[in-house]
Amino acid sequence: MTDYDAIVIGAGAAGLSAAALLATEGQRVLVVERSNFLGGRGMATNDAGYELNLGAHLLEDPGSGITRIFQHVGKELRHGPHNTDMPVWNHVTGAWGSIRDRYSGGKDQLKKVIHALLATPYEELDQWDDRPMRSWISQYTDHEGVSDLFEFISVMECMTEDWWDHSASDNLFNRKMHYSERRMAAYSFWPEGGWDNLFTALRDVVVDRGGEVQLGKRVSRVLIADGEAKGIALARPDAVLPNEIFHDEIVTAPVVVSTLPVWHVLQIVPEQQLPDWYVGQIKYLAQDRWRISWAGLYVAIEEPVAVIDRREIATWLHSPIGRTSGFMFEMTAMDPSVAPEGRHLYVMGSMLHRFNRARDIDFVKQKFDEFEKDIEIMWPALRSHVFKRRHYTFDPSFGVIQKPGLVGRFRPHWKAPNVSGLYFASETFKSRGIGVDRGARAGLTCAEDILGRRLWPLDEGWRY
Ligand SMILES: Cc1cc2nc3c(=O)[nH]c(=O)nc-3n(C[C@H](O)[C@H](O)[C@H](O)COP(=O)(O)OP(=O)(O)OC[C@H]3O[C@@H](n4cnc5c(N)ncnc54)[C@H](O)[C@@H]3O)c2cc1C
Repeated sequence: MTDYDAIVIGAGAAGLSAAALLATEGQRVLVVERSNFLGGRGMATNDAGYELNLGAHLLEDPGSGITRIFQHVGKELRHGPHNTDMPVWNHVTGAWGSIRDRYSGGKDQLKKVIHALLATPYEELDQWDDRPMRSWISQYTDHEGVSDLFEFISVMECMTEDWWDHSASDNLFNRKMHYSERRMAAYSFWPEGGWDNLFTALRDVVVDRGGEVQLGKRVSRVLIADGEAKGIALARPDAVLPNEIFHDEIVTAPVVVSTLPVWHVLQIVPEQQLPDWYVGQIKYLAQDRWRISWAGLYVAIEEPVAVIDRREIATWLHSPIGRTSGFMFEMTAMDPSVAPEGRHLYVMGSMLHRFNRARDIDFVKQKFDEFEKDIEIMWPALRSHVFKRRHYTFDPSFGVIQKPGLVGRFRPHWKAPNVSGLYFASETFKSRGIGVDRGARAGLTCAEDILGRRLWPLDEGWRY
């Protein structure tokens, strides 16, 4: 008899989704989380009256992902405001416009592309893992504005820097999903009640169904013997010697679900227990140069910026000085409670991964300085801010970039190839797209594999 049916490592979107689903299906589940908070890379916290997010800003789920998971576990995830347009910066004229202006002359061409996309099965899109977006689109149109629509969305949704070099399959899976479920190219919303409530609701499901969620517990090793997952070793929380080892607490279960991203997973899963080719796949993706990084800013001002619709995400391919791509939106337009009354809070980021100098802190500082000058050119109103926080995205990172050859079949599978009971629920493993919803879908994929059945019909949304 083991201590639990399943142990889930990490209380982020993937871990809490997997655990809530398994607990709902009657399994005895333990979630262990190293930090003292829920949400992982999606955590939210308060700083001087402003609600800041470590990661997640908007939730990109048209309904078949985390929203459907909530429904299955007896909760409701209500969609707050969402955006409908996309202001884009024209770096030639130095002015803002709408993405609609770019494709308005090619509406018939766009319809043709959407029709082709809806008629193409997901399995066929899988064949496009090693080719860029434009190769697929050029089968149907050479209209620049239509390509722009798809490529600007890659910048905004996936923090793609080289917009011409985004994987066709990853972009198209998402476009097809959004067009078929919401009849729009992209859909992302603010979770009503805030990000904290989202993670607390999933935690409550686990606990209400007899499971446990333990915070402040670091897994030191996943225990594997005879080709089977056996459980975990938990490091002593009050160790005095920094190199203390093996005074662990052992917890047993026949199923262990790790939610650590590719960059960290081999710190707890002994690589000699996995095939070399599989470890090779993990290490290849874990390289710094594939890790999304950006210079991020939170800025608050007293009057809202007038040049863009307050609920839209503004995007650019070339900022005026740093020549980087990026995004920006007003968080208070989605949820006024994230800032003190009378303050408007903006979040924005400038992509840095192309430079592959993420560990060169002087270079990163220079890019932050440039980005702040860029911001003042693109939104002069942000110059007179009353609050500012710089935040650097690298470790933790937003995710693995989605260039051709780095997605789909090129990613390590979510199930260890030779260890029964060992799962990797993370959108940095085999997945589609990026972000909190994809973490949750990765949790769903693993939960269904563990249970040996689908929890709801496949035609309600794809799995991976
Ligand atoms: C700056 C930034 C901005 C982002 N913006 C967005 C956005 O706007 N929209 C969006 O949808 N997504 C966004 N994301 C991505 C999103 O946050 C992640 O995709 C998502 O949160 C991943 O969830 P996860 O559960 O797969 O992984 P994680 O959240 O990384 O969960 C893994 C958990 O494992 C825990 N852990 C690690 N090691 C151990 C150990 N040894 N023992 C126990 N626990 C351990 C970690 O503490 C963590 O809580 C952003 C991310 C960043 C960094």
